[in-house]
Amino acid sequence: MHEIVIRGGTLVTPEGLVDADLAIGDGRIVHIAPGLSGGTEEIDASGLHVLPGVVDAHVHFNEPGRTEWEGAATGSLALAAGGGTTFIDMPLNSTPCTVTAAEFERKRAALAAASITDFALWGGLVPGNRDDLGALAESGAIGFKAFMSDSGLPEFPRADDLTLFEGMQEAVRLGLPVAVHAESEDITAGLSARLIAAGRTGVRDFLASRPVAAEVEAIARATHLAGETGARLHLVHVSSGRGVAVAAEARARGVDVTIETCPHYLFFTTEDVERLGVVAKCAPPIRDASERDALWQAVADGTIDIIGSDHSPAPPALKSGEFFRAWGGIAGVQSPLSVLLDAGVHARGIALPRIAELLAATPAARFGLRQKGAIRVGADADLALVALHDTTTLTHPLHRHPMSPYRGSSFRGVVRRTLRRGESIIVDGAATARSKGHLITCSR
Ligand SMILES: [Zn+2]
Repeated sequence: MHEIVIRGGTLVTPEGLVDADLAIGDGRIVHIAPGLSGGTEEIDASGLHVLPGVVDAHVHFNEPGRTEWEGAATGSLALAAGGGTTFIDMPLNSTPCTVTAAEFERKRAALAAASITDFALWGGLVPGNRDDLGALAESGAIGFKAFMSDSGLPEFPRADDLTLFEGMQEAVRLGLPVAVHAESEDITAGLSARLIAAGRTGVRDFLASRPVAAEVEAIARATHLAGETGARLHLVHVSSGRGVAVAAEARARGVDVTIETCPHYLFFTTEDVERLGVVAKCAPPIRDASERDALWQAVADGTIDIIGSDHSPAPPALKSGEFFRAWGGIAGVQSPLSVLLDAGVHARGIALPRIAELLAATPAARFGLRQKGAIRVGADADLALVALHDTTTLTHPLHRHPMSPYRGSSFRGVVRRTLRRGESIIVDGAATARSKGHLITCSR
C-alpha cells in the first residue's frame, strides 16, 4: 500500500509529458507508472497536469527584522498558492542582512518556524565580508549575492569591482556561485542625481535613469570578472534582450553564467508602468515591447535559464507617492507559473517541460538542491496540480500587502493543489499545511 497515489494526471517530467499515476512514500516520489495499486490517500488528478513545484530562486521575504514588509508565513503562502514549494531567500531586506553565519542561522530559525514551503538561503557578498563567506557556505548558503549598483539599503552596500573580483575568487574556492544585480552605478546614480536635481521625477524620468546600457555595461563587466576568476556567475533579473545577448556571448566564450529573468519583464511593458504607477516600479525597470519580445524569444530558445519572481514588496506607505522616491520592488511571488502558463504556454506555444525547466529543474540544479525541481523517482514529492484550460483572476494575492501589478489580471491555467514533500499545503486556493518547511542546503 502506498501512502499517497496521485491518479490519472499528465505528469510534466524532464523526458516530456507522461500519462501515469504517481506514488509518494515518506515525502518522496517512489513510483511512476500507469495503474498503480491503491494508496492510503488517493488524489484524483484526471484532467490535470502535474508539474514540479516552482523553485523560486529569487525572493525577498524580509524575515527576520522587516516582517512588516512581508514575512515567510505570508510569502510562502502566496508562493504555494501559485504552485511553489521552495524559495531561495535573498540576503536582504531582512535585518540584519545575511552576511555572516550568525545572521544566516537567525534567518534559518525564523523561516523554519514560519514557512509552509521549503527554502534555501543566499548569503550576501558586500565590501569587507570576504572572510565570512566560508562560514556562510558551511551554514548551507547556496551562493553569494552582490549588488553592482546601490541596493536601496545602506546596510547592504554595493560591491565595487575589487569586492566582486575577490569575492568571486573566494566563491570559486568554496564551489559556490555568485549572483549579481547587474546595473552600472556610475550610469544609474549619475543620471538619477541629474534628473532629480532638475525636478524630473516622473515615471518616464525614472525609466530614463536606468537605461538598458547600464545593464549591458554591468553584465559585460561581471561576465569578464567571472571569466578571469573561473567563478560560476548567476545574473539575476536580466530585463533586456540586449543584456541577455551580452551574457550569451560570454557563455559562448566559456564563461559559466546563468541568466535569470522575471515574469514582470515578460508580462508588462513601459506603457503598463505608466498606467499602473508605483506598484510596477522595480530596478532594473520594465522595458518596452521590443525588449519584452526579445526576452520571450530567449525564453523559448533556451538562452534564458531561470525565471524567478524577485518578489520584493514594501508596506503601502513606501509604495506610494512620487515615483522616483517610492520603493522599487514588485510583489509577484504568487504569479510566475500563472504568467508562464498564460503568456507562455497558451499565448506563445511554449512547451510545458520547458516551463518546468525554467521554474523548477534548472534553479534546483544550478543551486545544488538535488532532491528538488523535477518529477522523477527518488525526488521530493513537490508538485503543483494544474487545470491548464481553466481561467482565474488574481483578486486577492496572499502575500502580506496585496499591492501587486498582477492584481486584477486573468490567467489561463489554475493551480488546484500544491504538495510539499507529499503534504498538500494548498487545496483550491486555501491553506491546508499541517507542518512547516525546512532549510535545503546545496549538495556540492
Ligand atoms: Zn531582488
